[in-house]
Amino acid sequence: MNNPLLEQHSLPPFHSIKVDHIKPAVQIRIDHVWSVLRQQLELIEQGETPSWSNLIAPFEEVSDLLNQTWSPVSHLNGVQNSDDLRDIYAECVQLLTEFGTAIDQYEPLYKAYKTLAASEGFSALTQTQKKVIQDALRDFTLSGIALPKEQKQRYGEIKQRLSTLSTEFSNNVLDSTQAWYKQFDKVEALAGLPESALAGAKQMAEQKNKSGYLITLDAPSYMAVVTYTDDRQLRKIIYTAYATRATQSSNENRDWDNSSLIDETLALRHELALLLGFKNYAELSLATKMAESPQQVIDFLHELAQKSLPMAKQDLTTLQDFAKKEHNIEIVEAWDVAYYSEKLRQRDYAIAQETLRPYFPAEKVMSGMFTVVNKLFNIEIEPVSDIELYHNDVQFFSIRKEKKIIAYFYFDIYAREKKRGGAWMADCRTRRVSNGELQLPVAFLTCNFTPPVGDTPSLLTHQDVTTLFHEFGHGLHHMLTQMTEAAISGISGVAWDAVELPSQFLENWCWEKEVIPMISGHYESGEALPDDLLEKMLAAKNFQSGMQMLRQIEFSLFDIVLHADYNADAPVPVQAVLDNIRDQVSIMRPPSFNKFQNSFSHIFAGGYAAGYYSYKWAEVLSADAFSLFEEKGIFDKKTGEAFLNTVLANGGSQEPMELFKAFRGREPNIKALLRHGGLL
Ligand code: ZN
Repeated sequence: MNNPLLEQHSLPPFHSIKVDHIKPAVQIRIDHVWSVLRQQLELIEQGETPSWSNLIAPFEEVSDLLNQTWSPVSHLNGVQNSDDLRDIYAECVQLLTEFGTAIDQYEPLYKAYKTLAASEGFSALTQTQKKVIQDALRDFTLSGIALPKEQKQRYGEIKQRLSTLSTEFSNNVLDSTQAWYKQFDKVEALAGLPESALAGAKQMAEQKNKSGYLITLDAPSYMAVVTYTDDRQLRKIIYTAYATRATQSSNENRDWDNSSLIDETLALRHELALLLGFKNYAELSLATKMAESPQQVIDFLHELAQKSLPMAKQDLTTLQDFAKKEHNIEIVEAWDVAYYSEKLRQRDYAIAQETLRPYFPAEKVMSGMFTVVNKLFNIEIEPVSDIELYHNDVQFFSIRKEKKIIAYFYFDIYAREKKRGGAWMADCRTRRVSNGELQLPVAFLTCNFTPPVGDTPSLLTHQDVTTLFHEFGHGLHHMLTQMTEAAISGISGVAWDAVELPSQFLENWCWEKEVIPMISGHYESGEALPDDLLEKMLAAKNFQSGMQMLRQIEFSLFDIVLHADYNADAPVPVQAVLDNIRDQVSIMRPPSFNKFQNSFSHIFAGGYAAGYYSYKWAEVLSADAFSLFEEKGIFDKKTGEAFLNTVLANGGSQEPMELFKAFRGREPNIKALLRHGGLL
């Protein structure tokens, strides 16, 4: 059968891809990887010394073919879904997951990598090639493959149990979230809620076959109620319900209490870390990250906390004074914070994102952004026509540097039916050398902005503009790489806590006075965003930044300390760990019934265990990197070139700290982040 997903194309042949092609193609590609691997390992078995050319290169070659088959499918599943595609996609994800696990656990392959790393030929490899092999060996080790038989079995048991615990944890959060609701017949009971939230509450009631309005603990409903409802008692009720999800108190009909799951998870994670030779789970988590040790992370967070505390206290005092003076509230309780903060924000900083829209037509913002990166990195971005696209909304561009095309990307920025929400960058082709030929990197950039309506062009909020810059930053990391080995090319192999550096870095430009005329122009008058509006936006950006900062630090510290200081002989109760952290960095103690840890899915049911600090970490890196542009000029050519040649060019081929230092001339520090947040 002719299968376009198995043919060689420089770009995905979107017009001819049919759902029926997908599964056979994925299966054939997987089989192909196995047969090439077995063939090469056989040669090695027969006496050939494992080398780059008889092991790594052929493995990369066939893995890349699998990626070429899968990347358009995975992209279509996100941006042009259908019931058929969804089912096939799920089946293929299953196949690919099993394949990935089998590779991780494939002993002959692991042994060949090990022999290669110890061979004479290894020292003759390039630094980059060495890094590819070392990373692979590290990941093999972390997958437990090197353990003696009994321990390996225990490793498998723990992994399996942890996966069950994580699923149960999130199910409990979900069930206890969904079980709670409150119904109101009269709209007056919900006074203060904005129209959109009321419409949501009405719709929710209809969905559950109730009359009137329903409020729930789903994020949009919860957030709207604690932020806007004038009924203080109702705020208290919903706050209490939200803060006790998956606890004993939410446990009327079923056992949704996550407390014991948390205890078991922590114990098993600790045991897993010991099995692999680490002192605790935090160390295991950091083995693949930029941060070097749990202590470094803890010190980093404490320093940030200390520097942010004065401003956070001031934020709180301002809030309390405001609530007292204007609303006669003696004590601002936990369920009052969002409500009075919103009132205060509206009084002092209100700018509706809607009033900004006319200034940011999507096309203007995009071409302005291309100008920005042209000035920074000396690259030219041009539309390319006559390319097979999967939808009329999609645009396709090339990136040129010194007259040569170096990358391409798809831009799919409008919301539409059958398209997943949010914004993201995904890789379509990785930059690498294949049989002596350079394969150029290609990216998928996806957003969900309001599409044009009639004669009115697509108009973005400034938040949308920031999102666009953010994703384009990821895109540049993928596309401006100079690497030629897939495993460390672009964003591949980049430590997890360093991945957000280029994306958050690029966001800075859309807040710059000098850049505003490039990216804005009223869609009727052409007038750039007025200065006073930008000033207001900047002031609003830092509203309560001290309080926000401390909140994130509290979560991050709790997470890292919980995993770093775990004592297997006498585990400290989780609540005690949290209370202790709060003693150090909280300015407002939540009520004792608040058990936010029981629904902290990021660390108990997501990938963020001993990694929650990454949010702040990446912010420090990006702010500090940008501060060099503030010193030298935001379009300083030399500085732009330096960022390009260090952080963007080298992908995962070097430690991110080394790349950062090569760019910045020193290790990162927190000053720029504090200054940008108005915390100094
Ligand atoms: Zn991002």
